[in-house]
Amino acid sequence: MARKPLLMGNWKMNKTVAEAREFAEQLGQQSQSLCNDADYAVCAPFTSLHILRVMLPANVKLGAQNVHFEEHGAYTGEISASMLKEFETVYVLAGHSERRQLFGETDEIIAKKVKAILSQQMTPVLCVGEVLDQRDAGKTLDVVRNQLNKGLAELTEAEIGRCVVAYEPVWAIGTGRTATSEQAEEVIAELRAALRQKVGATADDIRILYGGSVKPANVAELCSQPNIDGGLVGGASLQADSFAQMAAEICKGV
Ligand code: PEP
Repeated sequence: MARKPLLMGNWKMNKTVAEAREFAEQLGQQSQSLCNDADYAVCAPFTSLHILRVMLPANVKLGAQNVHFEEHGAYTGEISASMLKEFETVYVLAGHSERRQLFGETDEIIAKKVKAILSQQMTPVLCVGEVLDQRDAGKTLDVVRNQLNKGLAELTEAEIGRCVVAYEPVWAIGTGRTATSEQAEEVIAELRAALRQKVGATADDIRILYGGSVKPANVAELCSQPNIDGGLVGGASLQADSFAQMAAEICKGV
């Protein structure tokens, strides 16, 4: 089965509600760039989910950047999967390197989050990626396979088939230093092989995104690789213009 490309923005801790509304209005004016042969999503701060649900073009789905794995309880400051589901959130990031590095999220915590996201019929986007020292030491494939295996550890085969994976080399995130398409394809092909060991042919239906300084100028080349099924995009997803340009580039290739 052909995998439909997915262009996913990650706004991180950016945009007020007013700014999110402006983005949605501007993207709505460029909706001709968003072809039906690709899927689109914006992972926004919790505070902007409502306005985006109301204002985004219908084919741009909502994503969240984090979730707590428990359903409810004494977890001050946290948000549960059912709360996200209420906003018609479709995707939730799990294991973004900023969560791993800045907030101490372990593979075990991430695995519980992935399970919680699925329990509410949302799609986890499990992020994996090596730091520069690990790449330089030739450990990239081991690192990402390990993160993948641990992140999916609590799932049945059917549940694994409902996930999206994002390969994001940490040295390429927010640095302007994109992995070459060959580097990205090598790792993503390996991730697909690891998925095949778990779920057989279903691995060919699982979308694996590349993330790390994706922008309009490089998204087409990256997505032209056989195993790369779209982009998880930080900085270049903050402007509606560049989001629409990336969509148009992806659409040219499908
Ligand atoms: C990200 O936030 O996941 C990311 C890849 O950021 P950037 O595109 O800015 O490198």
